[in-house]
Amino acid sequence: MLVAELGATSLTIGVANLAGEVIEFHDEACDIADGPHSVLGRVEALFHEILDKIEARSADVWGIGIGLPGPVEFATGRPIAPPIMPGWDGYPVRDRLGGVFDAPVWVDNEVNLMALGEVRAGSGGRHDDILYVKIGTGIGAGLVSGGRLHRGRQGCAGDIGHAAVLDDESIVCRCGNTGCLEAVAAGAALARDGTRAAETGRSAVLAEALRERGRVEASDVVHAATCGDRTAVELLVAAAHHIGTLLATLVSFYNPSLVVIGGGVAKAGDLLLATIRQNVYQRSLPLATRELRIEQSTLHDHAGLTGAAFMVLDELFTPARLARWLDTTTPHGSPALADTTA
Ligand SMILES: [Zn+2]
Repeated sequence: MLVAELGATSLTIGVANLAGEVIEFHDEACDIADGPHSVLGRVEALFHEILDKIEARSADVWGIGIGLPGPVEFATGRPIAPPIMPGWDGYPVRDRLGGVFDAPVWVDNEVNLMALGEVRAGSGGRHDDILYVKIGTGIGAGLVSGGRLHRGRQGCAGDIGHAAVLDDESIVCRCGNTGCLEAVAAGAALARDGTRAAETGRSAVLAEALRERGRVEASDVVHAATCGDRTAVELLVAAAHHIGTLLATLVSFYNPSLVVIGGGVAKAGDLLLATIRQNVYQRSLPLATRELRIEQSTLHDHAGLTGAAFMVLDELFTPARLARWLDTTTPHGSPALADTTA
């Protein structure tokens, strides 16, 4: 199977076997805002290269799984009004890749795939009900219920980044609303607040980063905090507080046995986790937190690719679909298998 994960500024592609293991991969920088023709053209070229590298042919491809950094209508494999993906709205990602590789293609939001990857091959191994929260430039969540992804009717279940957490008109989110979780606690918010701390002289470490590279990024704040910089610690704790408060509500509502925290900001580790745990344990129902674990992702950068592989396996082997390709011994040559309306 061919798998890919597209982020805002990078892409990773790989080959996975039927056990869901990623056996070969490649990553590189890429700007999702370049649009679908350029980005998917590159993905296709890389898919061909990686097949050559492992001496496989296109005819060996059983299916393709791809994760996108925005809302995806799962039934059609099209991104819908994705905020950071200009030119992609309604683009037929499935149809395009299915046509090129003559195999069924499934497309999902990257955070959903990370959640699936964690539950099948990461820290979620013994859990059937997990909540995966990605704290990167933005914030999103994926829900696994009873061992399966819960996508909801259109596929956007778990899109928690724009939940209102602050009644503050001055904090405007990229979605146009004010006080969104993402606008106060995600990586972009840390970078914004870190820059302010550097400019006002509240943090010598961040001021140094600003001088050296002309900007402060979320990773600078995370690094400064792990080095003990007081202002950076305060920024991270404030972000974790907002995330933890919303998670407490979600934990009471959904009752998972595991919450996995992933994404770039999660590299702050215990500093972030301790505050999130404190808020969740304090505010959630005692019964909901009795066995609850809150942990950092163990798959890190590979959660999405692994999840993409398991998405394809899950879809290929549903009884109804298996019946449609078993006689031909391979799903290759049947891109229409991915079409749920057929
Ligand atoms: Zn928003």
